[in-house]
Parts: sequence; C-alpha cells; structure tokens
Amino acid sequence: MARSADTAGGSRGTLGRALTQLHLAGGQASRAELTRTLDCGRSVMGYLLGELEDEGLVAVEPGTRAPGEGGGRPSQQVEVAPGAPVVIAADLAADAITVATVALGGRVVRRERRALPARISVEAGVTRLAEQIAAQLDGERVGAVTVAVPSPVRRADGEALAPLHLHWPQVPLRDLLLERFAADERTAGLAVHVANDANLSALAESRRGAGRGASTMLYLGTATVGIGGGLAVDGTLFEGSRGYAIEPGHVTVNPAGRPCTCGSTGCLEVEADTRALLRAYGRDDVPAEELTARADALLDAAAAGDAAARAAVEEANLPLGVGLAGLINLTDPDCVVLGSSLGRRFELAPDPVRRGIAARSYIDAHGEVPVRPGALADATLVGAAELAFQPLLDDPHAWPHP
Ligand SMILES: [Zn+2]
Repeated sequence: MARSADTAGGSRGTLGRALTQLHLAGGQASRAELTRTLDCGRSVMGYLLGELEDEGLVAVEPGTRAPGEGGGRPSQQVEVAPGAPVVIAADLAADAITVATVALGGRVVRRERRALPARISVEAGVTRLAEQIAAQLDGERVGAVTVAVPSPVRRADGEALAPLHLHWPQVPLRDLLLERFAADERTAGLAVHVANDANLSALAESRRGAGRGASTMLYLGTATVGIGGGLAVDGTLFEGSRGYAIEPGHVTVNPAGRPCTCGSTGCLEVEADTRALLRAYGRDDVPAEELTARADALLDAAAAGDAAARAAVEEANLPLGVGLAGLINLTDPDCVVLGSSLGRRFELAPDPVRRGIAARSYIDAHGEVPVRPGALADATLVGAAELAFQPLLDDPHAWPHP
C-alpha cells in the first residue's frame, strides 16, 4: 500500500495533505477550516487551492454569511470539482459481487450488487467481476479500481493466496483482471489494486468510522463466513512484509475444536463466526446461501428478548473474547472495532467478550481496551475507495489531466 499523505515529503506532501483534509471532510470544507487544520498561512493556502483547481480536483466558491454572523469577509467554500476523477470499489464476496463508483470525499455515486452462484469457477467469477466493473463506467474520469477479496493478498502482484470461502485455489487475481481489462476498450489501461476485504474495512473504520482518531486500531469483522481483520496505525494499514498481516480468523482459540478450512483446528473463525453462532442455536446444517439471513433473524430474535437466541449469542461471543485477548496482547491497541454482524453481537452480549479478554489479556488488565461496534454500513467498499484514491492523495499531480 502507498504511504499515507501525511508522510509524503515536500510541497507535493503539503498539496496532498490539503486534498486529504478535503477528502476526509466529505468533499466540502470552508477555506478557513482547511487553513486551520493544515496550520499554514493564508497565502500558502491560496497557492495550494490554485494548484488543485488547475488539476481539476477542487472548485472554490465565494462564501455566504449566515444570518447574525459577525463582520469580515465570509470564508470561501472549497468543494470537490464536478469533473474530478472517481474510483471504482469492488467487493468480491462468497455470495455476491458489489461494485460502486466513489467520488473524492467518499460519496458513493452509484452501486450495484449481483448475487454470485455458490462454488463458481475462477474463470467465470473473474469474468463476472470484470463485466460488472465495466458496467459501472459512465463517462467519468476513473483513476483506479480496487477489488476487495476474502483472502490474504500478496502486495507485490495482487495474487490472492487463499480465497478459501470462494473455494478457489491461489489465484493471480490482479493479472487475470488486467488481461480482461486490456481486451475491453471500456476498461483498457485502468490501474487495479487487489486487497484483503477485512483489511479494507479496517482502513475505512480507522479513517471514517468508529476508529477515527485512534493511534492503533484493531479491527475484526465477518463477511458471510469466516472472520477477518486488520490493524490500522495512524490511519494506515499494518501489512507485514508481504502484505498478509493481519489474519485473526486463524488464531487458535481451542486446540481440541472443530477442523478449519486452513488445515488447523479450533481457529477463531470456526469457533466464533456466523456458522458457530447458528450451531450454538442448534442449527448445524444451514446452507451457505442462507447463512446471513438466518443469522440476522437469530440476532433480531435475541434483540427482541428470545432467551435461546440470546444464549446462542453469548456462547459464540466467548471464543471471540478469547481470540481478542491474544490479539490485544500482540498489538496493544487503543481501541478494538468489531465490524458487520460481530458489532451487533457485541452490542447484544458484551459480557462474554469482555470476560474472554479480561481473563487472558494482561495488557487489558493494565487499562481496559475499549471495544466498539463498527460505524460504517459499507466499510469494505469505503476502504477499497480509500486505497484507490491513495496515490492521488499522496501526489495530486499523479493522475492524468482531463
Ligand atoms: Zn483456520
């Protein structure tokens, strides 16, 4: 992954920081606000905004004064320019492909979800993915595409190491997509990033969600099956040497536990994911395509006070706390964010999670680590867009002119 804009050097770094501030503010801010956040002089801000206007990235409008406001000129309003480039964010999940077009500032321009048949072949899956991305293109300048995939991803070449829940072998996903893009005039030449879905959710929650402001944020979430995660440090992902960190789903929480698709037994994800939750409710045989709906119904019942449903949530939350204890000991986070249905499960039954952590984490014992539910409904897509925008945020001169 590219460096965060804050660490890029020189005047490009300052220009990037100005654009990043506008981006994180939702694509709209007053000039005074930007000057304050960047801690620069008025004339420096004037120069930066001029550069960003020349690149077609921002538009500066005269400010208006609210009734009753004091004297002086109202501050100008800075907005993302109407013709500024957009990015495509794609989420390749076990049961569906969702593709969205996202503008600077994080606004979703349009999105489309198409169901994916169970056990689809690599060939057919990648063809559908490329077609769905091409179908999103609608005349805007597109800077880059990020594909989120439920697998560890090698940073160097975008190879998906183990898309276990798609039942795929190791797949050179970036190369396969680039091949298909090159053969289609709508997509030829598009830059493609591939990244782990939960890593991207972690990035999104740390920049725009429940982990905003945290220096070290540990994230765990679940798609249809399995548990993934990420560690964001000052808004940037910790990736390990090749890009495979963090894989919390395969830490052992019960050596005598159930077999996992990874070859081990008693991994956090087989002991605490959606399947484990349904097993705790006595439903051992739910087909893959019904898992999400059945788990949602169970959580609704627990929220409505159903004792058996609540007991199942409590049972599945205990190994989640045990897994978190080890992860907290390794990473010393200042907050833990639980995304997707894990967040809802934590809200319904926080005690077993807290008990699991308290019993096994000496770091937590020296100052309780706050655990929070995620704040973003579409964290994976938001994170994919963040990753696609990163080269532009690092250097606003980087992308082609209109
Ligand atoms: Zn495993």
